Amino acid sequence: GPCAIESREQAFAIAERVRAAGARLFRGGAYKPRTSPYSFQGLGEQGLKILAEVRAEFGLKIVTEAVDAESLDLVEQYGDVIQIGARNMQNFSLLKRAGRARKPVLLKRGLSATLDEFLMAAEYILAEGNPQVILCERGVRTFADHTRNTLDLSVVPAVERLSHLPILVDPSHGTGRREKVLPLSRAAVAVGADGLLVEVHHQPSKALSDGYQSILPDDFDRLLEEVRAIAAVLGRTLAAQPTAAQAAKALH
Ligand code: PEP
Ligand code: MN
Repeated sequence: GPCAIESREQAFAIAERVRAAGARLFRGGAYKPRTSPYSFQGLGEQGLKILAEVRAEFGLKIVTEAVDAESLDLVEQYGDVIQIGARNMQNFSLLKRAGRARKPVLLKRGLSATLDEFLMAAEYILAEGNPQVILCERGVRTFADHTRNTLDLSVVPAVERLSHLPILVDPSHGTGRREKVLPLSRAAVAVGADGLLVEVHHQPSKALSDGYQSILPDDFDRLLEEVRAIAAVLGRTLAAQPTAAQAAKALH
């Protein structure tokens, strides 16, 4: 989905396309941790309500970020998966609160987190009694200036060796450049990622955040076609979408 939920029209236009392409989850931020306090901060609860409408309309599970204890209460209520962003990976009180939640948590790797720090952050959630943690590699900060971050794909097999937790790769924040999302998605699946987190926008030039790294729905179609083929070479298949009947049941 998009980086941020901007309006009902925007969210629905993108959800329709990513669902058709085969996405399982719809991810969009209602609370955005932005570098500048003057940048778009998200629609807050109104954004969460739009996300709930997306689930009802398209049968997609909702992933959305909590930035503090207050937003986590609301995200737990409206969403299906609670995202903890890179900047909060070592916000231990927030991690503990997520550990007391009844929903799965998507934990993004911190901007300069070692593997040990990443796994220990996950441990904070697990130790509070929430076993449902999904890790996400989203790039780390290096001297490289051809990308926004350096996507550390070698962390995927390293995590697999040390942990039972699933790990996703986010090539959107990991590269920060639209044209690099497709090649790094292919590589992520080849290296063994359990899933991808990709930012998609139907009008990237008008996006209120991360437009330069958002791909168009047509490119997302192609991306899924290509990663499906790569997954097959490795003897893996992309999880099937729920049928309309299953999706309707899940809503109740
Ligand atoms: C995001 O997922 O939109 C986001 C802000 O990512 P990160 O926390 O990885 O920077
Ligand atoms: Mn983003």
